[in-house]
Amino acid sequence: MKLDSTAPEEEQLIISLRAKSWEDFYGQKQVTKSLMVAIKAAQQRQEALEHTLLYGPPGLGKTTLSHLIAKESGGSLHLASGNALSKVGDLAAILSNLQPMDVLFIDEIHRLPRAVEETLYPAMEDFALDIVLGKGAGARVVRIDLPPFTLVGATTRYGALSAPLRDRFGLTHRLQYYTPDDLSVILQTAAGKLSMQIDSDTAVVIARRSRGTPRVALKLLKRVRDVAQLDGAQEIQPRHVDEALKLQQVDQEGLDEHDRRYLKVLSQEFHGGPVGLQTLSAALSEDISTLEEVVEPYLIQLGKIKRTPRGRVLVNL
Ligand code: ADP
Repeated sequence: MKLDSTAPEEEQLIISLRAKSWEDFYGQKQVTKSLMVAIKAAQQRQEALEHTLLYGPPGLGKTTLSHLIAKESGGSLHLASGNALSKVGDLAAILSNLQPMDVLFIDEIHRLPRAVEETLYPAMEDFALDIVLGKGAGARVVRIDLPPFTLVGATTRYGALSAPLRDRFGLTHRLQYYTPDDLSVILQTAAGKLSMQIDSDTAVVIARRSRGTPRVALKLLKRVRDVAQLDGAQEIQPRHVDEALKLQQVDQEGLDEHDRRYLKVLSQEFHGGPVGLQTLSAALSEDISTLEEVVEPYLIQLGKIKRTPRGRVLVNL
């Protein structure tokens, strides 16, 4: 299974390890600092925080940040996703239940159907919900006032957002991959929550193989904990890490079998490219969005591939 994807039981663990306070949320200093300033300033003006767009690859902390924003703003968090909000009525039901200073988090916001997206525009701009009553010539629009709230939109694909939606966010933050040092602190804190110990050198070994992504690091930690537990150890040792990562087929650079297959196919079947994404997706039997949003960003970050106007190109293996 791909480490970025989430089986339900894994998701439970990830939720139980979720950073519950700003102090627990490591790294992304620029983003957290500027969010804190904006939240405090909005509070002084007795306004809701401006609508905020968070973008970056999966697992970097967008959902966690929205929990923290809601907590800091003194409102409740409502979770929704662009996939699931298929009808205008679904969004209208959520909007009309909002209380002042609540935060509405819409994950994968680029997937909202156009009609639903358009319902969001007056909600974002004027805190108003326009409802169409009746059909045809007799139809009329009733405007309902909404309380001041903050929309936090998350997306893995900034470019897929329509310009009108993008423009309605007052704050936009790109989340970056984490450094091994930041991930190592996250891992040590999480190990504590799992009643295990791990020293910083051993944590860095896991961190280096975690694709710069807390979600991946936490999943690997769980696998490492299994191995340590079977070994009867309270403290995670480098040998436990080695064994667990071997079992997961994660290599020194954090690449898993999906990444390696991608590189192999690009190199051997397409002689290093350039090759179009659709062709690659067919050759790998992987869907385009997984390749674009999960596999490729990390390979680009490592300098292994490049996206060019003519297609994907292998830079080095
Ligand atoms: P996203 O919404 O971007 O996919 P999540 O917010 O679900 O990512 O984060 C995945 C997991 O990683 C959660 O358990 C979360 O607590 C943890 N995590 C993410 N970022 C951080 C961070 N900066 N510090 C500590 N834990 C983090």
